[in-house]
Amino acid sequence: AAKDRGRRTYAFYQSEMTETATRYMTRSLELRRGLENNELVLYYQPQMNAHTGDLVGVEALLRWNHPTSGLLGPHEIIPVAEQSGLIIEIGDWVLREACLQARRWQDELDQKITMAVNVSVRQLKMPNFAETVQHALAVAGLPAEYLEIEITESMIQDETSMIRMLHELREVGVSLAIDDFGTGYSCLRSIKSLPIKRIKIDRAFVKDLPGKADDAALVEAMLAMASSLGLHTTVEGVETEEQYHFLREMGCTDLQGFLFSKPVPADAVFADKAAKKQSNSNIS
Ligand code: C2E
Ligand code: MG
Ligand code: MG
Ligand code: MG
Repeated sequence: AAKDRGRRTYAFYQSEMTETATRYMTRSLELRRGLENNELVLYYQPQMNAHTGDLVGVEALLRWNHPTSGLLGPHEIIPVAEQSGLIIEIGDWVLREACLQARRWQDELDQKITMAVNVSVRQLKMPNFAETVQHALAVAGLPAEYLEIEITESMIQDETSMIRMLHELREVGVSLAIDDFGTGYSCLRSIKSLPIKRIKIDRAFVKDLPGKADDAALVEAMLAMASSLGLHTTVEGVETEEQYHFLREMGCTDLQGFLFSKPVPADAVFADKAAKKQSNSNIS
């Protein structure tokens, strides 16, 4: 009986594994087809200057207009893309599309804002990644100063090739930001020695602000450290007025979160300005 049970359990695991593998295979084939059929889109989330309240940048966030499952987010795209290797092609597309969009806003609405793009470690490990970035900028005609590449703490570590790549990117003229700051194990010394412009404090620290004393202390310490190192700071996940005021008092330079806007399609970012331009041109 025990033997039977063992066999049944094995069969169960096997079929479950097969199911997972099949599902994964299906998704990666669908993703390839989706990329070819232009089903991938970028949403953009505004980033505000903490003191003036001006929109100073946007972060490009990947979405997939899946034909039957609806709009899918990065958690359903990135893991499949990374395992299948598609992340390189998708990452290239994201870079090109984001640069083109930034340039469109400059040309059509005179909005010169920073475009922040997330990259995966597999992209960063491509020896020609800096050229890929330069190419995306050149095709769009976007000056490098308007592009910010977001990497996470865990990507840095102490790998010489990685550190060299970050310097290469800096030479291209783009800026670098450390995303989800505080959640990984970053060596503070490497932050000081690397060409990093900005840290983005993870929203895990923000969620219970300003009430939770230890989170408040951590955010205050991170902001103070960044400020004394001359780094810009973005706090992610700002959802309430109280958080906004608290963070501004703490000296944070920029803010991002649902309080200002959720990630939205490109045409919704400056919808008011575009409408105004439209009505002006109707008058004249
Ligand atoms: P991230 O780079 O830390 O992006 C911020 C995430 O927080 C976004 O989720 C955004 O929708 C969410 N968020 C922003 N403000 C708030 C808020 O006030 N409250 C809450 N609850 N959430 C907020 P999203 O779009 O689902 O993206 C998740 C992650 O997927 C990103 O985290 C990033 O690591 C990754 N990702 C997104 N697009 C790309 C991409 O093009 N390439 C790569 N490699 N990764 C990407
Ligand atoms: Mg990010
Ligand atoms: Mg983040
Ligand atoms: Mg995140």
